[in-house]
Amino acid sequence: MSWESNVRRVIPYVPGEQPKEKDIIKLNTNENPYPPADAVLDVIRNFDTEDLRKYPDPTVSGLRDALSDSYGVPADQIFVGVGSDDVLAMSFMTFFHGDKPILFPDITYSFYDVWANEFEIPFQCKPLREDFTIDPADYLGENGGIVIPNPNAPTGLEAPQEVLEQIVASNPNSVVIIDEAYVDFGGQSMLPLIEKYDNLLVVMTFSKSRSLAGSRIGFAMGSKKLIGYLNDVKYSFNSYTMDRMTMAIGCASLADHKYFLDCCQRIIDTREWTKRELSALGFSFPDSHTNFIFATHEKWQAKQLFEDLKAAGIYVRYFNKPRIDAYLRISIGTMEEMQRLIDFLKQYEQV
Ligand code: PMP
Repeated sequence: MSWESNVRRVIPYVPGEQPKEKDIIKLNTNENPYPPADAVLDVIRNFDTEDLRKYPDPTVSGLRDALSDSYGVPADQIFVGVGSDDVLAMSFMTFFHGDKPILFPDITYSFYDVWANEFEIPFQCKPLREDFTIDPADYLGENGGIVIPNPNAPTGLEAPQEVLEQIVASNPNSVVIIDEAYVDFGGQSMLPLIEKYDNLLVVMTFSKSRSLAGSRIGFAMGSKKLIGYLNDVKYSFNSYTMDRMTMAIGCASLADHKYFLDCCQRIIDTREWTKRELSALGFSFPDSHTNFIFATHEKWQAKQLFEDLKAAGIYVRYFNKPRIDAYLRISIGTMEEMQRLIDFLKQYEQV
């Protein structure tokens, strides 16, 4: 017997690499290549450090009000966390506390099984079809909850609204979490349905479409009841999750709606250009509605290409996992960055 027998042992999630070098092309963690809105810089320049003496507002009311205005959802139906990872972890802890297994796709965000293991939640992975689409029938049996990213990561594919609504409507006794981390790049949000289904929680983030991965802001929207339970768990864990400056940064980002829409459109346009170039080079991929493309090549080994790209200073993501080990996930950078990727691939030969 040692103290180690009392330790909670977990196999942690492995985030994408954050290399120190500055002169690389970083297409490995789905960050936004453009800076945050100018108003964010003003917040940081003018921030009164005297305020840091005091604890932040535990209810994050300023940012919740700003989100309420932006999304047309009452503030008491909004929960804010330190990135959507924090929101999702809290949601797993709060809503997935039964004996039945929770369900999620076999190819999906690789944090879900980590949280399930950490919180000792039984889970079942439902295999996506060969073409990476969801079979709604997989989610109609008994379960302890459901989590589905839409669009999915790392495939980039968006499931039709009817499919997801069928899953939500058929599971009134489970909470269904739709993780919309990538929805702003041309996807359709389930948000309008939170009024119809009190078991639907929609989770979003400022990390991708608002260029604020470094600030850590995520949020969930759902029925008043869902948000109430989520708050109870949060306040039983850490009341002050979000710091003062981050709250102000979030509000500033929401205030510049035009910049947000412009950035998303630039990324969509670059993505569509990259799709055409990759196809011409012998790649195929599910039709991405995100800020990344999940591509496989007719001849080249993905792992080898991943390493050769890295040696050339171009970082993409490779998952050494069943069903997806022939793919690379390539985030959409600036047009110049994508051009350099394509130039590299045009002269690439695999030995
Ligand atoms: N959900 C999905 C599907 C993601 O890919 C990510 C990014 N790793 C997240 C949630 C978490 O993003 P963040 O914590 O930065 O909001």
